[in-house]
Amino acid sequence: MLSDALLLELRSLLPHCVSTDAATLLAASLDASDVQGACSAVVRVASEEDVVRLLRWAEERRVAIVPRGAATSATGAARPMPGSVALDLRGLNRILDLDARDMVAVVEPGVITATLQRAAEAEGLLYPPDPASAAECTLGGNVATCAGGLRAVKYGVTRDYVLGLRCVLPGGRILECGGRNLKDVTGYDLTRLLTGSEGTLAVFTRIVLKLVPLPPAHGTLLCSFADEDGAFTAADAILAAGLWPRALESMDEPAARLAAAGAGLELLPETRSQLLVELDGEATSVREAMERLRLLLGKTCLDCRDVSSGEAFAAVWQGRRGISRAARALAPAKHSEDIGVPRGKLALVVRQLKELGRAHGIPMLIYGHAGDANLHCNFLHDPGGEGADRRLDACVRGAWELVLSHGGTLTGEHGVGLRKRDELPRILGAERMRLMHAIKQAFDPGNIMNPGKVLRENQA
Ligand SMILES: Cc1cc2nc3c(=O)[nH]c(=O)nc-3n(C[C@H](O)[C@H](O)[C@H](O)COP(=O)(O)OP(=O)(O)OC[C@H]3O[C@@H](n4cnc5c(N)ncnc54)[C@H](O)[C@@H]3O)c2cc1C
Repeated sequence: MLSDALLLELRSLLPHCVSTDAATLLAASLDASDVQGACSAVVRVASEEDVVRLLRWAEERRVAIVPRGAATSATGAARPMPGSVALDLRGLNRILDLDARDMVAVVEPGVITATLQRAAEAEGLLYPPDPASAAECTLGGNVATCAGGLRAVKYGVTRDYVLGLRCVLPGGRILECGGRNLKDVTGYDLTRLLTGSEGTLAVFTRIVLKLVPLPPAHGTLLCSFADEDGAFTAADAILAAGLWPRALESMDEPAARLAAAGAGLELLPETRSQLLVELDGEATSVREAMERLRLLLGKTCLDCRDVSSGEAFAAVWQGRRGISRAARALAPAKHSEDIGVPRGKLALVVRQLKELGRAHGIPMLIYGHAGDANLHCNFLHDPGGEGADRRLDACVRGAWELVLSHGGTLTGEHGVGLRKRDELPRILGAERMRLMHAIKQAFDPGNIMNPGKVLRENQA
């Protein structure tokens, strides 16, 4: 708990920004993970100067600060800890510049991702990173987690678009790194280091993002398969044929069922897996590629629907983006993992994960970015009944070991947060942990920035 004296100081330092009412504290204690936190105050800033004042005070008083965007983090990264101040950055939400000639956007961190996507498209440009949460998450949160998403197979992840950052460091110092140059190798790449730092090093107050030309056409196919591996075999065949979709999303049968319900579409009863494929480019090349896709997949799929336009397009993507929340409604205590494996191992690992689920009596729902071999593996946990939590724990640990044994990663895009923190030492090894602690110490010697996330305190 923050003392009354400290709260009084904070209020006089940042009048009109500080809330301590129960409803605001409760809302700020959550993110999209299944871990709940607590904080002593929420500071909703309206300018960079507010952030500077807050971080100067916080370092002097050794108060923990938890930066927050839209709190869609799936790892507990935006979850505050008792006695901390939740720093709400959603008020810094201006697009400061969108320059079609330089092909960059300069934004404040609270801009919603989809807002920038629409603004770029209006100028004939594309901001490619597209997390499934794009309608709600912020660009600050995307940079802090290095968000991936639906178009990463062709366009890469957030880090590939961050050209520059302006940040406030603990103590209120300003750090600027990178800028509008598309190429720049002056010194250590602090922009890349800060991208994915999960609020543990600095608060971003301004972000320079690269844009690319907006492809004039796109085409989308939704294909259903009668076997569980069908979607993966098809994804391999598409890439092997030299086609390069901007989205290549797989859904197992339970995920396809939820997506279809969200989209208001029928699912063929024989469906065991689905693949959502989207291509973009010039109109003629998209038409040709769609034809090649139909020929390629027509031999193996039950059904291949063109959902390129109109209501079907919007509905299919709404269904796909809604799977995570629909799964939560189905199994409120579900546990989700964000695994990545070398591409060639994807079908095998999914098969082995499903076997593991069956062995522990836990149904699985697996979907995600098949093109990047980064899938969201949902354990549909039912907490009632003898030993249910123990079974879940054993199953999750089994899944981690399985993924690691195939040379995979425990997080492809959601980040470490609290969820994976304790696994880092054995995965990264002593030398990398030593360097990571040294970096944390150099940026944040007082350990006020989102302490305990990514790195356990006193773990060095
Ligand atoms: C339905 C759903 C679908 C999702 N789909 C995807 C997906 O496809 N791909 C993907 O990668 N993720 C996905 N996510 C996870 C989540 O949306 C991303 O991690 C997103 O980048 C978080 O953005 P946010 O604004 O909600 O950040 P928050 O959750 O508020 O914060 C996330 C982290 O960023 C830090 N942070 C926030 N703002 C700043 C700032 N200005 N300066 C410094 N640190 C900051 C926080 O401290 C925290 O560590 C999904 C989540 C949900 C609920």
